[in-house]
Amino acid sequence: MSSRSTLGMQQFLQVIMHNEVLSDQEVSNECVRILGERSHVRCITEINNSLSSINMAIQSGKDELTGEIFWAFVPTIKDEKMRYQSKYTQAQLDLLRAIFLEILDSENGFISSIDALNIQSTLEPRLSHAEAETTIGEMVSSKWLSSKEGNIYIGVRSTIELMPFFRASHHDEFNACPICDRSLFHGHKCENCQAVHHLYCLGIAKKRTGMLECFKCKKTLNATDLPCIDLNSSRGSQAEQDGTPSPPIKIKGKGKKRKEH
Ligand SMILES: [Zn+2]
Ligand SMILES: [Zn+2]
Repeated sequence: MSSRSTLGMQQFLQVIMHNEVLSDQEVSNECVRILGERSHVRCITEINNSLSSINMAIQSGKDELTGEIFWAFVPTIKDEKMRYQSKYTQAQLDLLRAIFLEILDSENGFISSIDALNIQSTLEPRLSHAEAETTIGEMVSSKWLSSKEGNIYIGVRSTIELMPFFRASHHDEFNACPICDRSLFHGHKCENCQAVHHLYCLGIAKKRTGMLECFKCKKTLNATDLPCIDLNSSRGSQAEQDGTPSPPIKIKGKGKKRKEH
């Protein structure tokens, strides 16, 4: 933290810690406000270097439903005493864990809100129906879960913070999106080859090529729930520049490879 004010960096870190999870735009705004710096990724890299000795880091993840990038302050090693645990009662945590497992075991990476609510009746000690409803609402607003059209999905904060736990409980058996190669819980499944794609990866591919086809078998896909993608923001996003190639780059590379054969 030599080039920037240490106090400013601490303040920036505190804002991220205090808010628990912030969108890429919010982090960018805070970086400008506190540090007068436009590259929040550069600031975060600098802070993460200082945090590595205490096994914590500010990390990003993409919301599977919208493609929006979020940041959270998380442990970098598997730590049984996760921060979120202290905020909730044991019964609430049991409900959250049971919902996670139901989603992971589900065919398409989501369960209905009604099924999520009904899970509490199988737990002991159990929450009342109203308490379970409030708990699920809190978990959605904290982004441990997300909800859309009456269904409950894994939230972006869980994908940032809890992947080691999901991997351990499911022996790493996750679908990988054929466009970006990253694990995913929910996406669009090709009816021909069963490949599951991130909705936002398909959204970007469609925006770029005007076509909607399976990245693996090339069958036309009938995905109607793709998020609106702003190509300028997804191509220029600083969070995408942290060493991971963005999906558009990969599409180009694989396209070239096909022509050579
Ligand atoms: Zn993807
Ligand atoms: Zn396919």
